[in-house]
Amino acid sequence: MLVAQTEKGLISLAQRFSLEQLKLWKKEKQFYCPSCQSPVQLKVGTKKIPHFAHLKKTCVAQHEGETDYHLDGKRKLFHWFSSHLEVELESYLPDIMQRPDLLVDTPSQKYAIEFQCASLSSSALTKRSIHYEKGNYIPLWIMGAKRMKRLSTYMYQLSFQEWQFLTLSDYTPTLLYFSPSTNQLLKLEHLIPFSSQICYAQLVVLSPHEHTFHDLFSTHTQPQFFSSWIKKKKAWRTHYILYPNQKLQPFLHALYENNIPPSLPYSSRSRHAATFFIHG
Ligand SMILES: [Zn+2]
Repeated sequence: MLVAQTEKGLISLAQRFSLEQLKLWKKEKQFYCPSCQSPVQLKVGTKKIPHFAHLKKTCVAQHEGETDYHLDGKRKLFHWFSSHLEVELESYLPDIMQRPDLLVDTPSQKYAIEFQCASLSSSALTKRSIHYEKGNYIPLWIMGAKRMKRLSTYMYQLSFQEWQFLTLSDYTPTLLYFSPSTNQLLKLEHLIPFSSQICYAQLVVLSPHEHTFHDLFSTHTQPQFFSSWIKKKKAWRTHYILYPNQKLQPFLHALYENNIPPSLPYSSRSRHAATFFIHG
């Protein structure tokens, strides 16, 4: 974590301090976790970003392991959003016993932001989201960009977990990723699933120099991928019946009994059903 309690108040490592200064503090100061009040250690090395770590692993506020990637990401997101909005880093919310990476206060809404780089179970995600909503915070999940799997210009592979991080921008489904190494936010707009793991989307890159927090919630593109989505769907429709698995058998049987060709889209089925067996 980047924030710790001292006798004189909170210290945030979001600001950069010299190595000498940090080493001096390490010798002289006592640091405590702002959530559970237990002692924490200031870790200063040459490889990893300076941070605080619990001496014991237990803490009332659950948070993911502090990789450098995660620390760097939340620090950069903090600097970006705090350039134009009120933002708190690792603020502990005692009522709901949560410590989101960032709390962003806009004139109309309050957001609890998690920079999610590690896996998170569905139950933990649901629990945290419910807690944030109870506290009148809108939960917003920004994933580590390492998780993004781009298959082609408009095609992406999504795990079951990534689907759970969907958010809305201009009422269309969106996913947010942040790359600490490039300091860019990658936004997948207009998500349209092809299957449970493959989806089509439009990629937009947002950066601190050109965009604000509000740009996360507005769409920046028009979908360009409908023709390739239709092409892929058509290829699937004409091929899946060649190798039907057991799950598909009852479905295909029902289509057969109703004279419906399985390769036709739903809207065409009724039109073609009557003529299918005449024309093949
Ligand atoms: Zn703690």
